[in-house]
Amino acid sequence: MTFDEPGALALDASDPSQREQFLVPPVPDRPGEELAYLAGNSLGLQPRVTAERLAAELDDWARLGVEGHLEAERPWLPYHELLREPAAKLVGARPAEVVAMNSLTVNLHLMMVSFYRPTPERHAIVIEDTAFPSDSYAVRSQAVLHGFDVDQTVIRLKAREGETGLRSEDVVAFLAEHGEKVALVLLGGVNYYSGELLDIPAITRAGHAAGAVVGWDLAHAAGNVPLQLHDWDVDWAAWCTYKYLNSGPGAIAGAFVHERHLGDRSLPRLEGWWSTDPSTRFTMGPEVTPVASADAWQLSNPPILAMAPVLASLEMFDRVGMDTLRARSERLTAYLEQALDELCADRALQIITPREPSRRGAQLSVRLLGDDAGEVCRALRERGVIADARQPDVVRLAPVPMYCTYHDCWRAARALAEVVSARG
Ligand SMILES: *Cc1c(COP(=O)(O)O)cnc(C)c1O
Repeated sequence: MTFDEPGALALDASDPSQREQFLVPPVPDRPGEELAYLAGNSLGLQPRVTAERLAAELDDWARLGVEGHLEAERPWLPYHELLREPAAKLVGARPAEVVAMNSLTVNLHLMMVSFYRPTPERHAIVIEDTAFPSDSYAVRSQAVLHGFDVDQTVIRLKAREGETGLRSEDVVAFLAEHGEKVALVLLGGVNYYSGELLDIPAITRAGHAAGAVVGWDLAHAAGNVPLQLHDWDVDWAAWCTYKYLNSGPGAIAGAFVHERHLGDRSLPRLEGWWSTDPSTRFTMGPEVTPVASADAWQLSNPPILAMAPVLASLEMFDRVGMDTLRARSERLTAYLEQALDELCADRALQIITPREPSRRGAQLSVRLLGDDAGEVCRALRERGVIADARQPDVVRLAPVPMYCTYHDCWRAARALAEVVSARG
């Protein structure tokens, strides 16, 4: 294959995206020209339908006031239930196992209130050494909350010498050897930095064999790779919806609790009026009547204006289908990889994301061997390409299958070749 503009455009004609359903920002000072937006792993683009769905809720509020709880076109009282089916399909769950609520780090904490139950003998939390900082802060603060010494409690698994990604087999081996002290395993399904997809079922099995609870942060996995959380027997999971799920900055997050924990009254939980059975919600009694679904972890009445974009986006994922997206994602990411190999062959950079499509999602992380990632991303932007810099030397490129094109990937590879130094 030759990596030129006509070739990229031909691939777009035969393997199109859903780009026309999104608002793609223009290249600064070049109106009419769209950015090659490869930062959807940081903040996804706005679907065209979002504004009209938000306007519908504003209209109902203007027209109905409080009566909108029951009489809005999509009544607000049971609004969160509309998200249940499409969210469950997206992550491979039963409908009762998922709920949309809060933001991701809040959900990590709410889940840990129930599922991090340390004892003096078994209190370790296993995370990856390259965990996203918020996850690291969250588990450290949970250790403190339970009165444990943080450095004795939080175990950060490192990649092998000379490697960037944490190998799933090494996590499994660690749990087999040291699992008896581990209370909770909490890893990113797809690592935000390296773009590596871990073997979620194998690590979950290994954690369970060791007697630990296994939770997953799916911030970079939800909407990116197919998931089967129920069948994989994951205990719990949480994810945000503003990355691959295109629901807007700070959008409402998701959470999953496996069926076998639903209705377990021995689990401690933080509760509020949205935890209770809806039929008792307005009886105003002092005690919660818990429901046997993930809704039991809700606290407050959901923010409808924040839920509307999530619902619109989940419906879009449902229409397109995760398997279709994944298939296109593998083709598009492979194209970007080959274009980088070809067009940047004499540039000082190295792809640190696993080369096997089964071990990654829609992200390639590129390590610069000499250049500064921030400067490179600024130079890319001047060329109409949006990428993401991780200081000091990693540039992340996410060819998101929902709206990125082969032409975007070709532009990104060509621009990198222009702005990165030659190999020394
Ligand atoms: C994006 C991301 C977050 C962000 O947390 P918020 O609570 O949504 O601000 C947390 N963890 C991981 C792994 C992420 O990728």
